Amino acid sequence: MGAFVTTCALPPLVLILTYFASIGKITLNLSDIYRHCFSHDLEVFLKCFMGLGAWFVFQVLCERLLPYELVSGAVLPGTKSSRLHYRINGHLAFWVTLSFLVCFPYLDQEGKLQFTTAPLYLLYDYYGDLALAAIVWCTLLSIYLYLNSFRRTDKILAEGGNSGNHAYDFFMGRELNPRPTILENFDWKEFCELRPGLIGWVVLNLSFALVQKSKLGYVSGSMIVLNLFQGLYVWDALYQEKAILTTMDITTDGFGFMLVFGDMAWVPFTYSLQARYLVDYDPALNSLQLMVIVLVNFLGYRIFRGANSQKDLFRKDPSSEEVKHLSYLKTKRGTRLLTSGYWGLARKINYTGDWIMGLSWCLLCGFESIVPYFYAIYFCILLIHRSERDDHMCHVKYGDDWMEYKKIVPYRFIPGVI
Ligand code: NDP
Repeated sequence: MGAFVTTCALPPLVLILTYFASIGKITLNLSDIYRHCFSHDLEVFLKCFMGLGAWFVFQVLCERLLPYELVSGAVLPGTKSSRLHYRINGHLAFWVTLSFLVCFPYLDQEGKLQFTTAPLYLLYDYYGDLALAAIVWCTLLSIYLYLNSFRRTDKILAEGGNSGNHAYDFFMGRELNPRPTILENFDWKEFCELRPGLIGWVVLNLSFALVQKSKLGYVSGSMIVLNLFQGLYVWDALYQEKAILTTMDITTDGFGFMLVFGDMAWVPFTYSLQARYLVDYDPALNSLQLMVIVLVNFLGYRIFRGANSQKDLFRKDPSSEEVKHLSYLKTKRGTRLLTSGYWGLARKINYTGDWIMGLSWCLLCGFESIVPYFYAIYFCILLIHRSERDDHMCHVKYGDDWMEYKKIVPYRFIPGVI
């Protein structure tokens, strides 16, 4: 029931949030909400839908045509050593995409090659329509992936998405690593996690900065810093692309509506709310306020990146200089759990850093409206829920060792507090 309700509730929520960001406040006027969110022009919708299709194809072409490193993923469940391979070139795709959009090529009336940023302005004009198109696109892809998961019996199914209940399995994702047979090493889940939605978020932000400039005559401090922070967050994810191969999303979760929608509708259209808000409701923060927010962001980034990199490095090469001094618990499963460094402070200290960064993005929008704070509120709920899921899975994986580890590192998010 929860999965079904969430599947039905998330799409309208995205549309409503994009509307709230455009009016800068929450309204309970249902007829206004209905008019703005649900009465779309069919022709505009179809153009947006095709535009998103072109965006997706462009990202696939980047993945196919750009130089790549072939990397092995984690050991597949139910096998001893079998692993899938992934083409890692998301970082290059990020820069190629941005260069292409900032210098969009076209032929002028005299047939001369010119470059323009004009397509970026369209993203602002059709923000709501694009969000609707993304929702339909994600729903169709989820249906395809779900039906396709029944096609052969040799597919690896995700433990959490194989209950036999259609609504639940559709949401959680039935197949663990869906891959089309025609594209060698193309992994739907890894591709969608990092490229169309995450890069799309940066592109939407850029569009909002350009529109703010054309409206105000300048780009505000908040808008510049927000674009840099969120750009850094996405750049970091793509730069560290290999690290995603050991995350819960890739190793454990099926690729169903939850991830498809999360990656390609929720992330670009709700994570960009702050930039959309700033176009029309910039709080004109002074330099001191901006500096404090920059420090908050870097504190978060340092914890987030420091913790994730420390664990990643420790897992790859525990004897390396940076991590060889760290204490750990050797588990019966064979792996080691860090008990000092970042991971000795709290069991989910990486989530804490991530959340602090998210909070700094909200602070850039001032305190006039709660709408830009949606991210911090939602992300807090997501991280608490995710930490519980991970705790449960680690308990299953490690048994008593996990209990022992929890005794050594008793705090979950904030050392000494919680
Ligand atoms: P983690 O990177 O925290 O990975 C959890 C796994 O790490 C555990 O299952 C366990 O797996 C291993 N582990 C746990 N404790 C230790 C330890 N002490 N020492 C060594 N290994 C340990 O979780 P996620 O994959 O959920 O998150 C990765 C990052 O992505 C986080 O920083 C998170 O904030 C971010 N994120 C961002 C989202 C967004 O929307 N912006 C959404 C989700 C996540 P094992 O032992 O089997 O290796």
